[in-house]
Amino acid sequence: SIPLSFFAGIGGASRAGVLVKGSNFLEALADIDTVVFDKTGTLTKGVFEVTAVHPETIPEKELLHLAAHVERFSTHPIAASLRSAYPGEADGCTVEDVEEIAGQGVHARVNGHTVCVGNAKLMDGLGAAWHPCEKTGTIVHVAMDGVYMGHIVVSDVVKPHAAAAIEALHAQGIHHTQMLTGDNRATAQEIAQELGIDAYECELLPADKVERLEALLKEQRGGVAFVGDGINDAPVLARADVGIAMGAMGSDAAIEAADIVLMDDDPLKISVARRIARKTMRIVR
Ligand code: ADP
Ligand code: MG
Repeated sequence: SIPLSFFAGIGGASRAGVLVKGSNFLEALADIDTVVFDKTGTLTKGVFEVTAVHPETIPEKELLHLAAHVERFSTHPIAASLRSAYPGEADGCTVEDVEEIAGQGVHARVNGHTVCVGNAKLMDGLGAAWHPCEKTGTIVHVAMDGVYMGHIVVSDVVKPHAAAAIEALHAQGIHHTQMLTGDNRATAQEIAQELGIDAYECELLPADKVERLEALLKEQRGGVAFVGDGINDAPVLARADVGIAMGAMGSDAAIEAADIVLMDDDPLKISVARRIARKTMRIVR
């Protein structure tokens, strides 16, 4: 039978805004030693804003126009920021053959032209020209018919409690914290440093994230928790010893795949839940 203390632990977590899907996950949470985080929407708010526009061959407005049209159907938070930077309606533009490539960007035909909007990996993969730039922030390159049109810088901000969340985990004896992101090195490094995370890996595709998590699981120190919010995080959440999802802004797929859900998306609640889990296990064991 399940000891009553488990119910007390699950109830306590629930009052703190943390949904624990079973007593076994409370036990697993007490035993984790490594916490791996997704970046966008997990450690950052996941709400981007256009902070700079660098057109190369067309006017600034045209560059924003192209990006907004290609991103018309995307649910990615970067797409939303590009659409609101160019609120112009469907002004006679025909957008067809839209294809979104996870962790890279989108390409489509706009008025018969092939337009790619995304990161360096997307440009390389589609054989579109792009010029390197040293700006910090997330860089969205735009190419039309293989010709470089310029780039748009979008920026996201870290969540108010993100640094405190990492600090609290280290103070509790978590030996390793790590961030996995599809974003570029400059942005990843800046955020990892600001938050005091032990390690980070950047420019990862969704499949790379699963691979990295599996490598950490094989190291077999203690258990490995993964914290994420997106559709693409679902396979990683399922693979971890403890999958933790953001419940408010997180995708349904992530919430479904997770063992534990933070109802208010506050990463500080990971340490709160772990404290409850450890207390419960001290009583049960
Ligand atoms: P993260 O790993 O930070 O959660 P994603 O895997 O969703 O981010 O995306 C990784 C990178 O792919 C982004 O930083 C961006 O450069 C690019 N990207 C993904 N989707 C889009 C999109 N719809 N438009 C433009 N760029 C995109
Ligand atoms: Mg994310």
